[in-house]
Amino acid sequence: MLRELTCIVCPMGCQLKAEITDNKIVNVSGNTCPRGKQYAINECTDPQRTVTTTMRCAGGVVSVKTDRTISKDKIFECMKIINSHFAPLPIHVGDVIIEKACGANIVATQNKEEAV
Ligand code: SF4
Repeated sequence: MLRELTCIVCPMGCQLKAEITDNKIVNVSGNTCPRGKQYAINECTDPQRTVTTTMRCAGGVVSVKTDRTISKDKIFECMKIINSHFAPLPIHVGDVIIEKACGANIVATQNKEEAV
């Protein structure tokens, strides 16, 4: 089986081809650096994503993200955890809002001050 992928590790966006035989990756081509090969292997075996979303807080929502990638099949579970929490104010970029949600911390990507 041949799987075609676009490498998203850097803006070059190389078009990769991963040859899979008996559920094993036997060759990766199209990459112009080793990171592309590793990306193709990861994408075919355990695809990972950074989750970016919003979370409820006083007066609205605050933008948050995972501080590392998590398995794609854990995204729904991670979103359930985020949606079950309410972020206390004040919030500053980089604050850990939730620790270890599906293997990653949920951190703020936006400042939110308490209403005066
Ligand atoms: S293969 Fe290397 S150069 Fe190409 S997009 Fe991926 S990281 Fe960038």
